Amino acid sequence: MIKIGILNLQGAVSEHVDITLKAIKNMGKTNEIVAEVVRYAGEVAECNGIIISGGESTVIGKLIKEREIDKVIIDKNIPVFGTCAGMVLLSKRTDYDQDIMGIMDIEVKRNSFGRQRDSFESEINIFEHTYPGVFIRAPSVSNILNESNDVVNEGINDKVEILSKLDSNIIAVKQGNNIAMSFHPELTDDTRLHEYYLNQIINLNR
Ligand code: GLN
Repeated sequence: MIKIGILNLQGAVSEHVDITLKAIKNMGKTNEIVAEVVRYAGEVAECNGIIISGGESTVIGKLIKEREIDKVIIDKNIPVFGTCAGMVLLSKRTDYDQDIMGIMDIEVKRNSFGRQRDSFESEINIFEHTYPGVFIRAPSVSNILNESNDVVNEGINDKVEILSKLDSNIIAVKQGNNIAMSFHPELTDDTRLHEYYLNQIINLNR
């Protein structure tokens, strides 16, 4: 049985649980995948994938460090799907002094869309399809980094794949099996992006 852990430290957790369960059902995989909330490193260690929700990345990051959850994720190479604050936590650098996990070679700008656009909805394009994008004080990827944390031009660090942009802002990236998105697919009825992540985990565990 594949287990997906939805990290429940702070933030929009129940929405991710609901949409993940709905995605599993749509895929007809209820006998193959379970999803449940996790709070501690020991629980995270038993998961094949971890979803990190939106919320307050400073609060979530502090608890991740305190509970040494990042160590487990890195040691066991557990694929993470991070939305909004989850994207901030996956990054190696942000424009704010805070605890992050440093798993993806990206630098993130928090609240990147400015005050007047604190919250907005916009259609976004990803995997050659259109999705509803809900942005709430959303971050964006300001730079792609190399192993020494230097900024590299887009397309140079092939490890980081840019999945989507809104205007010139990078809003979705993939590195290895980790995915980070600026927006909140969990706040829509559209399960396709969760299904994409879950399919990736299934393929890894075949
Ligand atoms: N701006 C928040 C942060 O950086 C993220 C907002 C969200 O997750 N909706 O923590």
